[in-house]
Amino acid sequence: MQHALVTGAGGFIGGHLVKHLEAQGATVRGVDVKPLEEWYQVSDSAESFVADVSTQAGAEQSVQGVDTVFNLAADMGGMGFIENNKALCMLSVLTSTHTLVEAHKAGVQRYFYSSSACVYAAEHQTSPEVVPLKEEDAYPAMPEDGYGWEKLFSERMCRHFEEDYGFVARVARFHNIYGPEGTYDGGREKAPAAISRKVAQAKLSGDHTIEIWGDGEQTRSFTYIDDCLDGILRITASDITEPLNLGSDQLVTINQLVDIVEDIAGVKLERRYKLDAPQGVRGRNSDNTRIQKLLGWAPSITLEDGLEKTYHWVYDQLSA
Ligand code: NAD
Repeated sequence: MQHALVTGAGGFIGGHLVKHLEAQGATVRGVDVKPLEEWYQVSDSAESFVADVSTQAGAEQSVQGVDTVFNLAADMGGMGFIENNKALCMLSVLTSTHTLVEAHKAGVQRYFYSSSACVYAAEHQTSPEVVPLKEEDAYPAMPEDGYGWEKLFSERMCRHFEEDYGFVARVARFHNIYGPEGTYDGGREKAPAAISRKVAQAKLSGDHTIEIWGDGEQTRSFTYIDDCLDGILRITASDITEPLNLGSDQLVTINQLVDIVEDIAGVKLERRYKLDAPQGVRGRNSDNTRIQKLLGWAPSITLEDGLEKTYHWVYDQLSA
């Protein structure tokens, strides 16, 4: 890879990916539909511009001259966002469609698509004591409504572009990626950033209470951004045509997540449970057997270490 395009470069993972690719020696172009001043990170050395890759013209302009496309552009957020914006989530199919078509037309050599654990059938995720999800559990299909269906459909498009046109398209199913330089307020934030913000706000304000969505016993696993970046590059360079899980298998309840952040912050908060808030599936974990066996990838950063970095970053943003 010499010249890469990252779509969604103004977002959390895209912003980190631009810098990571540059550190590997690639020349990088980053595009995002948001105005540049709203990007979470802008690399001085990358080419950065505003483009809407859900349009044919925006996608065509963005892919010119690159050999690898990392498509991370999507309208997305945590449960609070995806449960209430299903149509908007499904419209991200336009970014997948136009970037695939235009990348293929422009002779791009490799295409990476960022899918999600939300493609997994809800019937496997009804209990907090989960059996980790294997790639084949996505079928028979009954993904998360809206967002998950779009991801599963776009995965299939990647598959058929490869089968029908020989276009190299690789797919990762991300499981809750977190870290600094991401969304931590405004309604699109996910649990690690939201809880870091709530704990930091409690500490800064002296109001030692915290609102938790649901009863806090729902389970998840969370993947630190650096592990995710390493996995993206391995999957993109590989010859694995099936989607691969990219997630941690360190399962915790949301209450345990709060415990960890409280320990990092050195506070103990009174918990108030908002039982009618969006919660998503009851339990979810990633089975990493396949990616470990095929690509030697396994998460290397513990939740405690990753949250330490995330919490301090969020705290600094709030106190600034
Ligand atoms: P993010 O919201 O921080 O970044 C996505 C970026 O895409 C945003 O900056 C947004 O402005 C941009 N975008 C949206 N529509 C666009 C368009 N039409 N043209 C150009 N840019 C557009 O999200 P993220 O956490 O960085 O996620 C990146 C990708 O990974 C997304 O596809 C997301 O669905 C997927 N994913 C993320 C997670 C996670 O835990 N963060 C989990 C599963 C899947």
